Amino acid sequence: MKWTQTLVPTLREAPNDAEIVSHKLLLRAGLIRKLAGGVYTFLPLGLRALRKVEQIIREEMDRAGAVEVLMPALQPPEIWQQSGRYETASNVLFKLKDSGGREWLLSPTAEEVITTLAANEINSYRQLPKNFYQISLKFRDEIRPRFGLMRAKEFIMKDAYSFDTTDENAMASYRKMYEAYTRIFARCGLKAFPVEADTGVIGGNYSHEFMVPAETGENEVAFCEACGYAANIEKATSGIPKTAARDAGAAAEKFATPGVVTIEALSKEPYKVPANRQIKTLIYIADSQPIIILIRGDDQLNETKLLAKTGAVAARPATAEEIVPLLGAKPGSLGAVVNVPAPVPVYADERLRGANDMTTGANEDGFHLKSVSIERDIRVTAWFDLRTVGAGEPCGKCGKALKIRRAIEVGHVFKLGTKYSEKLNATFLDVDGTRKPCVMGCYGIGATRTLQAIIEQGNDKDGVVWPWSVAPYQVCITPLAVAPESPAMQLAEKIYAVLPERFKQATGQPMDVMLDDRDERPGVKFKDADLVGFPFRISIGEKSLAKGEVEIKPRTGPVEFVKIDDDLKNVCDYFLAKMTEAALAGKQP
Ligand SMILES: [Zn+2]
Repeated sequence: MKWTQTLVPTLREAPNDAEIVSHKLLLRAGLIRKLAGGVYTFLPLGLRALRKVEQIIREEMDRAGAVEVLMPALQPPEIWQQSGRYETASNVLFKLKDSGGREWLLSPTAEEVITTLAANEINSYRQLPKNFYQISLKFRDEIRPRFGLMRAKEFIMKDAYSFDTTDENAMASYRKMYEAYTRIFARCGLKAFPVEADTGVIGGNYSHEFMVPAETGENEVAFCEACGYAANIEKATSGIPKTAARDAGAAAEKFATPGVVTIEALSKEPYKVPANRQIKTLIYIADSQPIIILIRGDDQLNETKLLAKTGAVAARPATAEEIVPLLGAKPGSLGAVVNVPAPVPVYADERLRGANDMTTGANEDGFHLKSVSIERDIRVTAWFDLRTVGAGEPCGKCGKALKIRRAIEVGHVFKLGTKYSEKLNATFLDVDGTRKPCVMGCYGIGATRTLQAIIEQGNDKDGVVWPWSVAPYQVCITPLAVAPESPAMQLAEKIYAVLPERFKQATGQPMDVMLDDRDERPGVKFKDADLVGFPFRISIGEKSLAKGEVEIKPRTGPVEFVKIDDDLKNVCDYFLAKMTEAALAGKQP
């Protein structure tokens, strides 16, 4: 491709609304342009890189035995009502009406469509297993789209859905996808690692996310370097000890605490109750019903765990206006010992199990209770793990200290079980003649997000640093004179014609080459080549030409001078050597 033929609108400065480095570079390197918040056009170079990511995904899906289909983005709401997600996913669903007043949804994912297809087309165990995938545009009604392609209103996702006869077979399908994902991210040059994950609104009972470590990631991952345990913070547990036992005391005892409404205030003079001897009482509205949550004073409630454990679809902290009529006191003096209405469930964090000599609010403004023994004095409906794990806590598996890091989620695999197949009647006739629901799994990769994660992980002060496998073009030829009759341009044209062909002959792989034929100063061309991030740049200037050489510069390596011979053997050999070197090191050139 010739630079003047395509469109690479590089920018010196990123627009102000680009916050993270990968978003800035997507814009500065001329890869994407914003049309509206969370909606982007892919420019020629951005699209080439995206297509390469998609192709890697496609090849690995095919290799793992999945078959490609293409489902509609426009979906009827009835199947979403049937699965129950019309309600539970309503906050992210784009809804629209056609001219006849009929409602439609824009697909954020396709469990309902594929399960409906399976219900109609799969009838016998002989047709199973099956795994269908598609790579297509998806929509999410993000209230606050941000970080470019990371959290957009429309995006490209690969979604796959497996159908099996038994749980065991479904696990085998799951493992195949897990292994395919590991290969996909490695081929994209990404350091991604799998973590245990919450199953969220998709549902199901077993799940891993593939995470790319990045300071700007929206996820937090707890991990153990000693034994390899890794989990999304929404799911992570640790081996932290339960609350130490003390003498219980005869009975809970009320004492005055005028003006004290925080854990911290109660831990100071004159009360001096340490946070780890306090019970924090939180009131939430879960699916429009009030619930009481008890957690230790020095712990934090994890709202994702709260939803997962209670089975609630949505939960939010109650307002003071909702709390006062319920418990008779304002936030800051709340507890679960007295004045708790009978129908209100009380969920307590496991770390409080058996705790005694605790202090908590008295449900009377300005008063607390001490000597509280939780199992004696509080009607606990259920015990759950509800707290958020912190850095340095002992690993639940091996006892070594856990670490916490931020990460970008690029892929997610779920074992769904029969949740969708039962609701949407995707059944099959088994070998014993009985009809059973298919056992399903679903598997997503954000293709556009993966592209941005590659840039978030691969960049330096000068611009993008692409891995060879997904670079829009792998080599940029930069003649410093561009008049057609100039020796520099003539040599550039020759390399442009010969190099990719020779490379393909020798390796069987394509090499995509850009020729920067712009009549620009060398400084401008070099800066742009670094900004766009071509893995290699071949510069042809008068000085090196006089010596019979060209200058080849890997994006992050030192310049090498390569002798020019008539059939360009040295230049071709340079790249073959780089490929071999990289292959031997298990890396990309
Ligand atoms: Zn461990």
